[in-house]
Amino acid sequence: MAFQNIIKDLANYNTNLVAVSKTKPQSAILKLYEEGQRDFGENRVQELVDKQEALPKDIKWHMIGHLQSNKVKYIAPFIHLIHSVDSPKILKEINKQAAKNDRIIDCLLQFHIAEEDTKYGFDSDEALAFLKSPAFQSLQNIRIVGVMGMATFTKDENQVRNEFRSLKAIFDLLKKTCFEQVNSFKEISMGMSGDYNIAMEEGSTMVRIGSLLFGARR
Ligand SMILES: *Cc1c(COP(=O)(O)O)cnc(C)c1O
Repeated sequence: MAFQNIIKDLANYNTNLVAVSKTKPQSAILKLYEEGQRDFGENRVQELVDKQEALPKDIKWHMIGHLQSNKVKYIAPFIHLIHSVDSPKILKEINKQAAKNDRIIDCLLQFHIAEEDTKYGFDSDEALAFLKSPAFQSLQNIRIVGVMGMATFTKDENQVRNEFRSLKAIFDLLKKTCFEQVNSFKEISMGMSGDYNIAMEEGSTMVRIGSLLFGARR
């Protein structure tokens, strides 16, 4: 079945699976949970909160969708990793809500690597400037553990590969210039149902797979 085959693929590359369960019922999540999956991703705050309340407490919840400042407070008590940090403003709010909950929240910086201009994210100059700023240094309740990106939705595999390469290059640049001594900065979240094989080959440490596991979303 899909889950076991994906797990085998990923093991060859030392890549981890975030099962993207958005729009899917709790029963579908529990089915994978019973097979051992613990990392699940959602893209809407309300749905994430509802599922977190209802489902086993050892599930690690990943926020993968664009996050609005006024909603951070709902996920701050439990969220495992926020993949979609796309502005200094949202990072400051995450820091504030993490402090209120006496936590340090792990985050990925989302980069804009796709051709479409509809996708959220930093570009590398912007991120570098921010990471070197005093404003960033003052954020004590967040930890940046890596980067995230989405490739263009296209059949052109070369384009997808090049976009993933550009994310890997951004990761390497940030590692070298800002996080050289920081072991926890190690994650590259890239790859979805249609392109995760390419993402693994290009150095993904975490793939976010939905429809291949749970079936198409309506
Ligand atoms: C929905 C979604 C995914 C999973 O997409 P599939 O094509 O169903 O695997 C991955 N990442 C993000 C950010 C998503 O919104």
